[in-house]
Amino acid sequence: MTEKLSAEEFDRNYESVLERLAAASRRAGRSPDEITLLAATKTVDADTINYAVDKGITHIGENRVQELLSKFDSLKPVHRHFIGHLQTNKVRDIIDKVEMIESVDSLRLANEISKQAVRSERSVDVLLEVNIGGEPSKSGFAPEETESALREISRLPGIRVKGLMAIPPAADLPEETRKYFRNMYKLFIDMRDKKIDNSIMSVLSMGMSNDFDVAVEEGATLVRVGTSLFGGRVYK
Ligand SMILES: *Cc1c(COP(=O)(O)O)cnc(C)c1O
Repeated sequence: MTEKLSAEEFDRNYESVLERLAAASRRAGRSPDEITLLAATKTVDADTINYAVDKGITHIGENRVQELLSKFDSLKPVHRHFIGHLQTNKVRDIIDKVEMIESVDSLRLANEISKQAVRSERSVDVLLEVNIGGEPSKSGFAPEETESALREISRLPGIRVKGLMAIPPAADLPEETRKYFRNMYKLFIDMRDKKIDNSIMSVLSMGMSNDFDVAVEEGATLVRVGTSLFGGRVYK
């Protein structure tokens, strides 16, 4: 749970995030309308999320299955994404609860999503997670295996590939992350230009509290922001 965040605090945070988004868009010659602000809501209680939705938040992202399930029924209508590492045996629990799974990091997971989507007669949007920093500790497809993964996953029933997602290596300074964002954008454009059947390549999800300005400058279409909206997380 985030330590009780006051309405005024959220309002101030939200305004400042919108200002950063607008400024970064301006610097990049882009319209802020091209960029989706997704609130990363791990550890944030349902009341606070609903307040944020009232204020204008349209998209939320959860990264733990249990937490998503526990809040699900209490949330106002809002676009729900899954953004965390997803175990194949949990796919069934969330398949009808999210409209996009941003964190598809293996063929095995993609196959399970497809299977469960077909079983529940749904179609689920997904992003392929790319391990853009080549970190051994992180999941995701290597940049050079992204195309073959994309070709394979695009063929699966019940799945619509909408784009790519990345969590670059942690850095002290946002500028250090720019090269990873730039490489992601190149990969995104490259995959888009291949015009692979059943893949659309309209979403490039990258950038978090520390560096979403830079991500927007480098072509992100969706940024995932937690701390800058809700304050620091306290895990209990
Ligand atoms: C928590 C989280 C974010 C948001 O991180 P902040 O630094 O708090 O903005 C973004 N993406 C994923 C996958 C996350 O788990």
